[in-house]
Amino acid sequence: MHSAQAHPPSIDRVLNWTAIAPLLAEYGREPVLAGLRSVLDRTRQAARQGDRADYTEPALAAHLAAHLARQHAPRLRRVFNLSGTVLHTNLGRAPLPEEAVDALVMAARHPCALEYDLDTGGRGDRDDVVEDLLCELTGAEAATVVNNNAAAVFLLLNTLAPRKQVIVSRGELVEIGGAFRVPDIMSRAGAKLVEVGTTNRTHLRDFAEALNPRSAMLMKVHASNYAIQGFTASVAESELAQLAHAHELPFVVDLGSGTLVDLARFGLPHEPMPQASLAAGADLVCFSGDKLLGGPQAGILVGRRELIQRIKKNPLKRALRVGKLTLAALEAVLRLYHDPDRLAERLTALRLLTRPRTEIQAQAGRLLPALQRALAAWPVSVAVEPALSQIGSGSLPVDRLESCALAVRPTTRKSGVLHTIEAALRGLPLPVIGRIAEGALRLDLRCLDTADEADFLGQLAKLAA
Ligand SMILES: *Cc1c(COP(=O)(O)O)cnc(C)c1O
Repeated sequence: MHSAQAHPPSIDRVLNWTAIAPLLAEYGREPVLAGLRSVLDRTRQAARQGDRADYTEPALAAHLAAHLARQHAPRLRRVFNLSGTVLHTNLGRAPLPEEAVDALVMAARHPCALEYDLDTGGRGDRDDVVEDLLCELTGAEAATVVNNNAAAVFLLLNTLAPRKQVIVSRGELVEIGGAFRVPDIMSRAGAKLVEVGTTNRTHLRDFAEALNPRSAMLMKVHASNYAIQGFTASVAESELAQLAHAHELPFVVDLGSGTLVDLARFGLPHEPMPQASLAAGADLVCFSGDKLLGGPQAGILVGRRELIQRIKKNPLKRALRVGKLTLAALEAVLRLYHDPDRLAERLTALRLLTRPRTEIQAQAGRLLPALQRALAAWPVSVAVEPALSQIGSGSLPVDRLESCALAVRPTTRKSGVLHTIEAALRGLPLPVIGRIAEGALRLDLRCLDTADEADFLGQLAKLAA
């Protein structure tokens, strides 16, 4: 047996202890040395403040193991998104379908024909990986892909409207969470914003009156994360396209989310589609890859070949282009759209969005006893309650999806218990992200795939401890 020791041992001695050998094997000599110095420092400091210093082999090895485990835990950790927002930007938006995961693992592991034409042996263009698919699905002549939709908007403005005017309705000057603001992107891209109409009503004549020789384009921005209701008027895409073309200018649409299939066929609210904008006469449409499309983070530009060519020639395209992992995943996701009948099973984001309330409610019933047991020592009650999920990512802002939640409510007046439990859930090995609102902590189960239930349940006992 080791007795508690009051004096620190030498580093060399500690490194030879049997209890340290597994740590050396796992982390390597340098990290163990650095960790040991920091653990010894902390023990010495604690001793100076009157705590008993325990420098025995088991005590130091345990401290060191905990320290190294903390330091080497990945920062980007898997979590359970029970926030009630399906496409949660802070939690990584759309989870990818298996087909996309397989494709990106392949591209990560092996050399791949990213910019290489396998027919001729010559140099290829990385956009070729997805361009045909995008054209087929949207009816566009050409397509290109950049890092995200903010980059797509920036690049199209910087290419088509430098030092010129871009006419946009006042009702569409959106700010998306995380500092994407249409006016700011516009000025950074070197274009001059011309606002027309009012917040709630904009007419075709407002656009017509703003046209002048310095106009570069008419632009429509989809009001993704808010809705203007009541006494409102906006101009149809076909009218804006006609007006722009009469002045030999392009008409451009930032759709934000955009979806390649009519979501109404899955019982979801309608969301605008790029193919509809193109059919209405838009010359260029841009949208996100990881919102309703359900793919990796990307910004997709589709439209007239001549405009896409100019965009691809902008030197900034090189700075904003996507990597092979993104292209691999995007290609796999786009292929799923060939078979819309099975899309809701195969595309993870759509599967979560279309999960029936009855299925979520049955799941809540299965999980309820385990959460009640785990929180038995707390002054709270746990029950199954109806909930309304949000789609998220600025898509369909006013529509809610009927769902079910495990709701934790305090049984005493002592406030703060919900925040303590919320933090404890966040502190689990697989952090659980819920949401506190209206006096309850709710875990909306829409995004808890049945396949992940065991992982969720397996760690709940740690809450009781
Ligand atoms: C979300 C959104 C963007 C930004 O797209 P990211 O892919 O997040 O960069 C731009 N415009 C609109 C209208 C949006 O909804």
